[in-house]
Amino acid sequence: MNEKNGLLIAFEGIDGTGKSTQLTHLGKHLEEKGCQVVMTFEPSDGPYGKQIRELFVNRKNVSPEEELELFIQDRRQHVNEVIEPALAAGKIVLTDRYYFSTVAYQGAAGCDPETIFAKNNFAPEPDMVVLLTIEAKQSLERIRQLRGETPNDFEQEEQLTQVAALFSSFTHPFIKRVDASKSFDDVQASIRNETDLLLQKKEHPCIRG
Ligand code: ADP
Ligand code: MG
Repeated sequence: MNEKNGLLIAFEGIDGTGKSTQLTHLGKHLEEKGCQVVMTFEPSDGPYGKQIRELFVNRKNVSPEEELELFIQDRRQHVNEVIEPALAAGKIVLTDRYYFSTVAYQGAAGCDPETIFAKNNFAPEPDMVVLLTIEAKQSLERIRQLRGETPNDFEQEEQLTQVAALFSSFTHPFIKRVDASKSFDDVQASIRNETDLLLQKKEHPCIRG
């Protein structure tokens, strides 16, 4: 077993798949088992992340390339200041979105997916990606009805369908796809199951029982 047991788990998928709620539940579950967990998110709440959030409101004034650079700068800071230190301290890091989202969203906006992956090679590869899958139509329905929000510029159906297609094209062996159209509890059970398998594989001290 490694002396340090840091693990990086990224939650990915289109808007409205349940990433934020599922991540929080998994985090609490791991903490109850005695694991040291850091829950974090992208875009971060640093200066670049704040600029990105402003784009959510009005995306028209910036090119896909400029947008991509902001995401990369935000991630550089997030990796340096949050992710790397937590992993070095042996913690389990759960991140709500990571570089697969950048490839899928900025890819759908017109940037080349391989180029985006290459620009992210400074970011540590996750031990597992929980990729929540759902039809764009159903996720938009959730955003409208359950969250009571009007979908923003990033969330139009045609766009989201393209984003979902890019997510489904990824073939990394550490990506675990979970059907997010199922009930919340079913989805959480699948995520916990995949996480338990990962902890066992890594001989992590938080193994159940
Ligand atoms: P994301 O972070 O992926 O955008 P959220 O966690 O914010 O998604 O969830 C979006 C909305 O869908 C929330 O209102 C949430 O309560 C609801 N939701 C999440 N998972 C499910 C599910 N499996 N079934 C029904 N509604 C869900
Ligand atoms: Mg969310």
